[in-house]
Amino acid sequence: MTSARPTRRSVLRGTAGALAGAALSGVGARGALAAAAGALLERRTRHVILVAFAGGIRTRETLGAPENVPTLKAMANEGVVYPRTRTSNLGHFGAALSIFTGISEPRGIRENARGPDPTLFEYVRKEGGLSGSDVWMSTSGGTQQTNYAYSTHADFGARYGANTLDGDGVFNQEFKDLVAGLGRPREMDEREAELLERMRSSLGAGERAGVNDAETARRVESYILTELSRGTSDLRGVNAGDAKALQVARNLMLFFRPRLLGVSLQNADVAHGSYNAYVEVIRRNDAAFAELWQVVRDDPELADSTAIIVLPEFGRDRDLNSRRGLDHGDGSEELNYVSTVCWGPEFRKGHVVNQEVRTIDVCPTVCEIFGARARHARGKPLPQLLG
Ligand SMILES: [Zn+2]
Repeated sequence: MTSARPTRRSVLRGTAGALAGAALSGVGARGALAAAAGALLERRTRHVILVAFAGGIRTRETLGAPENVPTLKAMANEGVVYPRTRTSNLGHFGAALSIFTGISEPRGIRENARGPDPTLFEYVRKEGGLSGSDVWMSTSGGTQQTNYAYSTHADFGARYGANTLDGDGVFNQEFKDLVAGLGRPREMDEREAELLERMRSSLGAGERAGVNDAETARRVESYILTELSRGTSDLRGVNAGDAKALQVARNLMLFFRPRLLGVSLQNADVAHGSYNAYVEVIRRNDAAFAELWQVVRDDPELADSTAIIVLPEFGRDRDLNSRRGLDHGDGSEELNYVSTVCWGPEFRKGHVVNQEVRTIDVCPTVCEIFGARARHARGKPLPQLLG
């Protein structure tokens, strides 16, 4: 397995960037070199997992009720919490997209189209020098969420997008049968070969090439086998889509060790019809966070170099609706403010920032970690984050 050390080329690129910046600002070459070397030495965070704990989730059922979210609470205790994170849009798609773009996407944004503004994936690939195999997105189902992987922006777009894995789309019955067949020593028939090809291409070949070399193909197959043997395709229950996305994320960290991994969830929106089901989604997803976190903490290299950021796209109404569910639209504080939890080797420990921040601050924060500038984003890097 290859580790995610900086390549010589990426190091050189970072240094060249710092030199160019210094030349523009009039700093001498010697100072620029020292600054570039310092940045390379000091940056311990080399992996970021960003979880859009979306579907509309109030703080009242998360950090306000720690028995629902022991994992998130533990992360908060060891990290930084922003309990007054202002949300920016009250449609699920636009609001979650805002987390990835750092722009308050207009309310009327079409629910099934890519946005016009670059995503953090595109910034870190184009400006932070990350390769296609470094940047992944795991989604909870449906084509809509794959729109978070890249934008239609002319200067960015697909060539800087994240490799996207949709748990439902990849781990379906067809692939399960295929893998069962792969375990037997015989010729693959034409249809199986075609499925295998599709599986590989869904893992990042084609226009987002960069992972389709032989070594990666081998890892892809190990990955798929592990994924299926762990029963990803059999996950059931109120959070089935989210559980698949989180399990895919867990195995991506194990096998590919992405530098930036986005995860988008959505099942909490069952709340419109059932408060109890909503709480159940939160609890189950928190249990899945524990597995993901464990992968990071069990690996000495990842444990010392991985940051995790978790936040909902917005909250929910203050009061139950007539079905004993919770909608999102009353303009309450519980709807407009969520809690962002940040855990990582360079972040402060056990720190609560009561100052108001915004969901659109997350994109510039992640970009800054990778030495990229989210030049079109409206948010700012989160304050009081680094220790
Ligand atoms: Zn909803």
